[in-house]
Order: sequence, then structure tokens, then C-alpha cells
Amino acid sequence: MAKRNSEPISKEDKRALNKTNLKTLMGVFKFMLPYKGLFIIGLISLALSSVTLLAFPRLAGELLDVASGKAKYFSSINEVALILIFILFIQSVFSFIRVYTFSIVSERGMANVRETVYKKIIWLPMTFFDSRRVGELMSRITADVGTLQDTFSFTLAELLRQLITLIFGTAILLYLAPTLTGFMLLTFPILVVAALIFGKFIRKLSKKTQDKLAEANVIVEESLQSISIVKAFTNEAFEINRYSSALKEVVNVALHGSRYRGFFISFIIFALFGGIVAVGWYGASLVQSESITVGELFSFIFYTSFIGFSIAGLGDIFTQLQRSIGASERVLEIIKQTDEAQPKQDKIKVLGEISFENVSFAYPSRAEYPVLKELNFKIKAGEKIALVGQSGSGKSTIINLLMRFYPVTEGVVSVDTINIYDYNLTSYRENLGIVPQEVILFGGTIKENIQYGKPGATEDEIREAARKANALEFIEGFPEKFSTIVGDRGVKLSGGQRQRIAIARAILKDPSILILDEATSSLDAHSEVLVQEALEKLMEGRTTIVIAHRLSTIKKVDRIFVIKEGRLAEMGSHAELTKLSNGIYSNLLKLQLQ
Ligand code: ADP
Repeated sequence: MAKRNSEPISKEDKRALNKTNLKTLMGVFKFMLPYKGLFIIGLISLALSSVTLLAFPRLAGELLDVASGKAKYFSSINEVALILIFILFIQSVFSFIRVYTFSIVSERGMANVRETVYKKIIWLPMTFFDSRRVGELMSRITADVGTLQDTFSFTLAELLRQLITLIFGTAILLYLAPTLTGFMLLTFPILVVAALIFGKFIRKLSKKTQDKLAEANVIVEESLQSISIVKAFTNEAFEINRYSSALKEVVNVALHGSRYRGFFISFIIFALFGGIVAVGWYGASLVQSESITVGELFSFIFYTSFIGFSIAGLGDIFTQLQRSIGASERVLEIIKQTDEAQPKQDKIKVLGEISFENVSFAYPSRAEYPVLKELNFKIKAGEKIALVGQSGSGKSTIINLLMRFYPVTEGVVSVDTINIYDYNLTSYRENLGIVPQEVILFGGTIKENIQYGKPGATEDEIREAARKANALEFIEGFPEKFSTIVGDRGVKLSGGQRQRIAIARAILKDPSILILDEATSSLDAHSEVLVQEALEKLMEGRTTIVIAHRLSTIKKVDRIFVIKEGRLAEMGSHAELTKLSNGIYSNLLKLQLQ
């Protein structure tokens, strides 16, 4: 890294960089296009309010000249005061229109960006999530889009306002007193060059701070998500340490940056007021020699401070724009990813015959490590099989391939003799149901959680599914029944109850292919019976694959596949496999019995 940084950047590189920067912001600007009419109204109001305000210093100077009898255009101070008030009024009206229209555009535009990013992320393939952390993705939608929102609601408008003030203000100054203006402009180029150089530098530093902050946020996110693990391992102090050292880094990096920012700002203030003193001094000498009036000098200094504040403001706007470019880059990087979204097609109901032909597989994140090796098997529609094998042997991976979470490296997975990649993704996945090992419930009511299996399911369907899942009794036992809130801020359900909710979900989904990832922890005897009974009902008429952890529960399946190091080592019914002396299955069975 250090070596790369010290390499000189060629002119071509620099030009390309600037072009991409502009393109980057324009990429996000696309999301505002639907509101371009409002945006233009905002721009016009902004220009008008900025220009109107520019009349203010000259009229204020004129007020002084009228009082001292040297005025060129007016004869009464009342007249000038009235015009001043009128101008202030006009400028307030335009300011209001500008703030309001820009807010509408940026709020709606950013909602668009957020929705687009979320839609993108949620449709990205599993491989993407293997290499990203949730906290990092969240900060794209929250922090980065927030930065962009500031840009579009405020920074761009400020940029334009300051530029108008700068250009028109300077023109007025030149008209008022050319030599004095020349004198004033001596400080101007120094400020601009300094702003450009510092801006670039500060952009780098603030990106570093944001990255560090994202890292720290990930720690909070992860530890809170698995708070029970943290507590079980009594690792509270460890997590606090981890977070506080991450925070220290954030502070270090931010403070490092703020030293430069502080220096930058104080330099600009010094140059600005120094410039005003110099202009005042030279201007006073011009008044002494009667080249200009006191009112004109007053206007001049007024304009000079307008212009000075614009230049100082431009420095900040510049860094803010640099920051938005960083944020746009991160947001667009997500939007550019290839997702899995496919136009929804008609429902397909498969029979559920599954076949793996010469399937080999390695996870993209560990491409050199083969997880499945030349797997060959067929499962008949309606057949019930169990996957057995040591942990890490590849059972879940087989399911991941069947779910189309990952593409096979070699070979073909087909359902009803059609390659699963030839189906429309959504239509295909609608045929698969999972009852997972760890049932995750969403914050919401029991009803909503069951309905997740079939959005739009009626009350009766939900009730019937709960009944079949042996869940009705405990649900009706709650005072709020189906409206009982579960999840983070609601009732905590037991493992067995959560399992039955998951079963009810699957019943509603009514898949042809059912995947049961058996819970590793055993339930109490009563729950076990209820869950087992519900599962058996659920399995009826469906091709079922059980990932078996407790061998006692799989005696009823038609066939057992024993997976060893990614290969199919044994296959047969419980009776057949137990007969194999020294077989893997019979050894596993012996081990479990012990
Ligand atoms: P099982 O379900 O039999 O316990 P898995 O299918 O989960 O086994 O895992 C098989 C192998 O694949 C293991 O070595 C595991 O570390 C690896 N593995 C599982 N998921 C991923 C993943 N998302 N990325 C990389 N490697 C993985």
C-alpha cells in the first residue's frame, strides 16, 4: 500500500479520476430525474434569491450616501429603506421556495435510492453475503445515503449560491471601484488553490474515518445480534474492549483529519479578515482623496465580506462534495452488482423428483477447497430421505445447491428431470419449503409470522395451518391469541413452539419439496411428540430431505444417504445400513447409543 501511495499519479489518471467523480455523482443524480421540474424551480428561486440579496450592500451604502448628501440615485432615506425591506421580502419568499422544493426533491430522490439499494441487496446471490458484513451493508443504506441527501438538499444549492455571490459580487465590485477590487483579489487565488489541495486531502481522511466508524458499528451489530452467546461466554468485557479500541481508532483517525480541517478553516478566516483590513485601509485612503464616497466604501466592504464568506463556504462545500462522491461510489458499487431478480412468471408446481448428476462443488469464497465431490443420486417424487454424516461433511451444502443459493461448479442438479437453473428462480423456489434448525421469528404477531409462508393467506388458512402444526393449542393459550407479538419485543416462544410456527409456515407454503434441518438440541418429551407428529403430517405427499443430527428420528425415512467428506459413502434403508458390519452408519449409530 505504502508503495502504491508514493507512486506519482499521471496526468491521464488524474483526468480519468475527475471524469469518474463527476460520472459517479451523476449516477446518483439519476434518481432525482423524476423530480427535475421541481428541482429547476428550486434552482431558479435560488438564483433569484441570491441575486436579489446582492442588491442589499449597495442599497445600504446608498443609505449612508443619501444621509451625507452624496447620493447618486436617491434623495430620501425612507425611499431607500422601503426598497431594502422590499428586497428582503422578495428574497425570503424565494428562499422559502428553494428550501421547500429542494427538500421534496432530495427526500423523494433519496427514498428512491434507499429502496433501489435495498431491492438490489435483497436480490443479490448468497455468494455476495459470504463476503460482506451486515453492518457494512446497513451503513450503505443509512450513512452513505444520508451523506448524499445532505448533498442534494443543501450542498449543491449552497455551491450554486456561493458561486453566484462570488461571480456577481466580483462584477459589482469591479464596477464600484476597479483598483480597490484588484487589491482585494490578491488574496482570492491563494484561497482557491489552498481549498482545492486541502479538499482532496481531507476527502481521503474523512473516507478513512467513515470506514473506521463502519468497522466499529459492525462490532455493536454483531454482538447485539448474538447477545446470548456473548453473555453465555461472559465475554461482555471482551466485547467492550473490542468496541472501545475500535472507537479509539475512529477518534484517532477523525482527530488526525480535524487537525488539518481546523488548520484549513483558521487559515481561511485569517486570510479573509486580513483581506478586509487591507481593503478597509486602502479604501479609506481612496475616500480621503475623494475617489469614492463613504457609502461606496461601506458597500464595498459589505460585498467583500459576502465574497469572503462564499470562498470560505466553498472550501467546506468542496470537502462535503468529495465526501458525497465517496458515498456515491459505495452506493453505486452495490447498484452495479448483478442480482438474481427475474421477472415473475406463472406458478410452477413440480412433482419433486430430484437428481444430482456428477455434482462437484466448491464455495466461491474458498474455490480451492472442494466440498462436494462427484455426487450422484436420484430421489423419487414423494420419497423421504435423510442426509447423515459428520458435521462439515457437506449435508447443508447439498441443500444450498438444491435451493439455488450457489451454482454448482460441475455437474447438474435437476428437479423433474429439468436443470434447476432452467426454471424461473421465484417459481422454482416456491416449490421448496424449509423448516430450519434455528427458527427465526420476525418481530410482529404470530399470525404475521405464520403468514410469511404465504403472503395473503386468509385467517382460516392460517388457523388451519396452525392446527395441523399442533400449534393451535398454545397460540390460543395466549390472551392475544394470533395477535400475540413475538420476536425482539414480544413473547419469547420455546424452541418447540418456534418449530411448530415454522411447520405452520411450511404447511401454508405447501411445497412439493420439503427440507427439514433437524434441531440439534433436543426438546422436552412432550414437545418432541407434538413436533414429530406435526412434521409427519407435513411430510405427507412431499419429497422430503431431512438433515439428520439425531439418528433416532430418521428410522422412518425410506432411504438414508451417508455423506463422508463430500461423497456419498453409503445409501439404503435403516435396516439395510445397520446390517453392514463396520459401515459408517452402523458405527455412528453405535456411537450415539453409547
Ligand atoms: P454439514 O452440513 O454436513 O455440517 P456443510 O455443508 O455445512 O456441512 O459444510 C461443508 C464444508 O463447507 C465445511 O468444510 C464448511 O466449512 C464449508 N462451508 C460451508 N458453508 C460455507 C460457505 N458459505 N463458504 C465457504 N465454505 C463453507
